[in-house]
Amino acid sequence: MNIGGGRHGRGMGPIGYCICLRCGYRVRKIPGIRCLDMKCPKCGAAMVREGSYHHQLYLERMKNKKLKEK
Ligand SMILES: [Zn+2]
Repeated sequence: MNIGGGRHGRGMGPIGYCICLRCGYRVRKIPGIRCLDMKCPKCGAAMVREGSYHHQLYLERMKNKKLKEK
């Protein structure tokens, strides 16, 4: 009698990344710690969750800057 219990190697939620807004350095997000609470190991700037509202807001701002070129 075979017990085909198909082990699922799941359990890890979606893996996210924190990205530095200053130098673009990416690190694997640590569960339980918000990206905003982390500091970039390279330049010490604040980090945001990649793809998050803050990140997209930043990207949009960069785009506008380029377009307007004040
Ligand atoms: Zn950085």
